[in-house]
Amino acid sequence: MIPIRFENIFDTKFLSKYKEFVLYGKEWNGEKYRFKIRNSEVKFDKSGDKSLNDVITWIKENHSNETVKEFFKFVDKNIETILVGNFNEIKELARRFNEISINEEIKKICREIFNYNKLYNKREYSYFIGNILNVFYKKIKVCPYCNRQYIDVFNDTERTFDFEHHFHKSKYWIFSISLANLLPSCKSCNQRKGTIDVLGEEFLSPYEDIRVSFSIECNGGKIGNTNSLDAIESSIEKIIVEQAEGSNIEKLYLKELYQLHKDIVAEIELKKRAFPEIRKVFDEKAFDSLEGFEEIYRLIFANYIPTSEEDSLIFLKRPLSKLTFDIYRELNNTP
Ligand SMILES: [Zn+2]
Repeated sequence: MIPIRFENIFDTKFLSKYKEFVLYGKEWNGEKYRFKIRNSEVKFDKSGDKSLNDVITWIKENHSNETVKEFFKFVDKNIETILVGNFNEIKELARRFNEISINEEIKKICREIFNYNKLYNKREYSYFIGNILNVFYKKIKVCPYCNRQYIDVFNDTERTFDFEHHFHKSKYWIFSISLANLLPSCKSCNQRKGTIDVLGEEFLSPYEDIRVSFSIECNGGKIGNTNSLDAIESSIEKIIVEQAEGSNIEKLYLKELYQLHKDIVAEIELKKRAFPEIRKVFDEKAFDSLEGFEEIYRLIFANYIPTSEEDSLIFLKRPLSKLTFDIYRELNNTP
């Protein structure tokens, strides 16, 4: 998994626009997130006269059920965190949410007001969706959970990825439209993660600074020394996939999936051997710098290299980039 920082994805201008739109019902290119209250029932309705904030205030003050009123005092107090808080803030809130008593009436209202199916439905809110997609897509082009699949955006509404709810919306419906709870993910990672309760299963979000690392185990302890890709590939016993904490590798079957890429590792070994020769083609001096090294690396391995420990977003530009980088480093240090 490739770590991402929430602040690197959403700037404060975008966060405040999201808040104004969702919480205060402000227009976003002709679209509004609004509700109607009829006979004490809250209904999602784009042409309604109530904002989410109005609805929360109304329930807190007028609802006939005391448990509902109490719950909405909690919602009111934390609504900004719920919508635009960073990941650690909503994780803390999710723990507290688990301890609160909830009744069916609360669930029913919350599913209506934190309405993922409407708000993230391209037919309902195409322009809004387009904006969210573009914010992500400018920075993330590969699934952050597996680093194996491209995630694509064709235009304002068409995409090849799912929004993965870290805190699943079936249990944590209060976070179903929280920005920090939504990450683009390839369809297979989203499906495998499914509805598991992350807090119970210690499944980590890419917003938590946990990275996956790769190395190899070879027959006889050494990678094949021939120039045959097939022979090198069969000398690789397995690709080791590790993550210091969390159950992500196991839940997403990353260990099993990465065994399919022994051929890529064999190619890395051969390309690594060609590195010094290819370097000679260029002006030696130009490639003494880090930028120069990056360029040769990119040319040979068709992938990006981070310039600092912090620079993990670079791994989200091309698939298998973390595997390539880790294996290149490992093979390069092997005599
Ligand atoms: Zn994935």
